[in-house]
Amino acid sequence: MMTDILKIKEVIKNSQKVTIISHYSPDGDALASQLALARGLEQIEIEISLINKDPIPDAYQFLKNWECIKPLEEIPDFASVIICVDCATWERTGYLKEQLIGEKTIVINIDHHISNTNFGHLNWVDPNAAATAELIYDLLGLLQVKIDKIIATSIYTGISTDTGSFLYENTTATTHIVVADLINRGADINLVRNSYYENINISKINLLKYGLNNLSFSVDNQVCWVAFTRDVFNNANATDADGEGLINHLKSISGVEVAIIFRETTSDTIKLSFRSKKWADVNQLASKYGGGGHPRAAGCTITGNLDSVVDGVINWVVQSIAQGGTSKFGWDNKCT
Ligand code: 5GP
Ligand code: MN
Repeated sequence: MMTDILKIKEVIKNSQKVTIISHYSPDGDALASQLALARGLEQIEIEISLINKDPIPDAYQFLKNWECIKPLEEIPDFASVIICVDCATWERTGYLKEQLIGEKTIVINIDHHISNTNFGHLNWVDPNAAATAELIYDLLGLLQVKIDKIIATSIYTGISTDTGSFLYENTTATTHIVVADLINRGADINLVRNSYYENINISKINLLKYGLNNLSFSVDNQVCWVAFTRDVFNNANATDADGEGLINHLKSISGVEVAIIFRETTSDTIKLSFRSKKWADVNQLASKYGGGGHPRAAGCTITGNLDSVVDGVINWVVQSIAQGGTSKFGWDNKCT
């Protein structure tokens, strides 16, 4: 755990202008952290610009001021204080360092991924936090910013989506205490449910249908996977964001320890998502291919054609799982 939190507080307090950026293919935690921090800092008279490489998925467009998040090309003058939220590495921003970082730039890295490389000048990395939004809650408290209904709703969204509605292992007593406070401050949980959880578009359902009809299992059923070609996404009229969450259906199957989704993003680029249920360290698995994340949720991108990437990864994962408990891949002890 790396924490320059007091220095971060000082730098922010002494700034007139701050740019907040998160990772490409943004998820709920990334966007919620950006928006909550932006609204909080505006209260203390700091001018904000918000950058994301990718468009904001429809599913998150209920978050207030989502349209203020823009790609770099549309931000005329970004600040010399850049806060990266929910990015394990600088590369997750999707931009080259030289596009944003000059001689005087201070990069502040606020994140909860265990694989974070502490790439900032100042780093606040806490893998025990359920979501980056939980850290934003602490930071706003430290800056004595009032958490209004809109900030509370954003932070709630980040925490709720990153914890699978408070079910995953990363959910702690602190998470619930923070969320109780957010609800006291007016977090609109009905808005989140009606706009996100119970507002799933038909493209996403079509992907789910395909996924559930095309499950593969290892012989011992501990590994379950689905591979999506580009055509499947196109035929379902689905965006990348529509693929989010599908993997949880695989993980929820009895006996499955590791779930994997392979998605062809271009003809020779395959995006992988990993989830594990109880003991497999998927951060270690994804790291082997240059990715990372958390012990129970991780991802990576591999160059190659879909069939050969699936074969290679599944062979290796199935072997590793069958050996269960091997320290080679950093598995937790299965028996504890
Ligand atoms: P997802 O499977 O939902 O895309 O990602 C699961 C987790 O792994 C997230 O916490 C995400 O930040 C992380 N992750 C996904 N893809 C990558 C990647 O290519 N590199 C790294 N470092 N982390 C990733
Ligand atoms: Mn997160």
